[in-house]
Amino acid sequence: MDADKVAAALKDLGQPGYRWDQVRRAVYDQAIESYEEIKVLPADVRAALAERAPILSLKERRVDVSPDQRAHKALLFLRDGKTVETVLLRPSPTRWTACISSQVGCAVGCTFCATGLMGLDRTLTPEEITDQVLFWRQYMKRQGFEGRLDNVVYMGMGEPFACYEETSESLKILLDQKRFGIGARHISVSTSGLASKIPRFGRDFPQVNLALSLHAADDELRARLVPMNKAYPLSALAEALKTYLRETNRKIFFEYVLLKGENDRAQDADALARWLKELGPSSLLHVNLIIFNQTDTPHTPSDETDARRFQDRIMAAGFKTTVRQNLGRDIDGACGQLVVLENRV
Ligand code: SAH
Ligand code: SF4
Repeated sequence: MDADKVAAALKDLGQPGYRWDQVRRAVYDQAIESYEEIKVLPADVRAALAERAPILSLKERRVDVSPDQRAHKALLFLRDGKTVETVLLRPSPTRWTACISSQVGCAVGCTFCATGLMGLDRTLTPEEITDQVLFWRQYMKRQGFEGRLDNVVYMGMGEPFACYEETSESLKILLDQKRFGIGARHISVSTSGLASKIPRFGRDFPQVNLALSLHAADDELRARLVPMNKAYPLSALAEALKTYLRETNRKIFFEYVLLKGENDRAQDADALARWLKELGPSSLLHVNLIIFNQTDTPHTPSDETDARRFQDRIMAAGFKTTVRQNLGRDIDGACGQLVVLENRV
């Protein structure tokens, strides 16, 4: 919902200030799907709002549900006919997390990522980014699910720091007490390493969690997997992260997709541990090892013994490390983000 549009429409209609309060409570807190449900609004106001400021900027095309019902993946139509995916996860019986997209496609082109194969189509508007959360709140209500959706991760399609302005605007909407009112510590933004935006993010949103998709601590290997590394090599990334740590004192979550024979060898683990040691205190650095979700790319998931060995070496170096299978894998709920969620519970 575009709150400015709603407010402007109410003003044009000569409505008193408290009308906005009635609308926002109904939309964000009660997850109503139509203005017709807000009975306290005059009928002509309901109709005018539906016409001028629709509640959702996107529409359900399909929803897939995992057999254990803990992962729901929606394909959504945008107004211009393009589509985007978003995932709802239930890491524990009453807690829900939305994994949202910031762009249609992605320009970074990580070699193992299905979104990367698409290239970038366009960036989502702040309304489209946050409407994914609104969509899931409505969906949960329709399904009669218990619990609240109050965790959000920017780990769907797209690189959030490549569209920093839209990401920033969307974060303000999610944090706004008068709109979604989601706690900053319940939101995580994941970047593939757009170093120049990291200190700014720390200053703008010091309480929002930062996840960094690292995947390798060697420049040559990382540049192969994450082409962004050519523009922002590990030294630039380290500088940006040190500034972030100094200014926020917040923990950073590192994502590392384990690819068989590529970045899962003992020497890769040791390079990672060395790089992290240089970066800051181990209490502020958490490693999430991600089992690769098969995509249409020339990579293979690490086998269990290699993953275990990798984890052991990082832990022996003093870093908290978790390795998980992905929630939502059975519906191609994609990506490593699902792992991070499980770990946060
Ligand atoms: N563009 C951002 C956020 C979206 S991707 C980023 O890259 O951080 C969210 C996470 O899923 C990233 O850590 C990404 O590396 C990981 N990922 C991408 N493709 C994957 C795959 N096939 N299997 C497992 N994790 C994957
Ligand atoms: Fe883009 Fe992230 Fe996929 Fe890389 S992993 S291509 S940055 S969405």
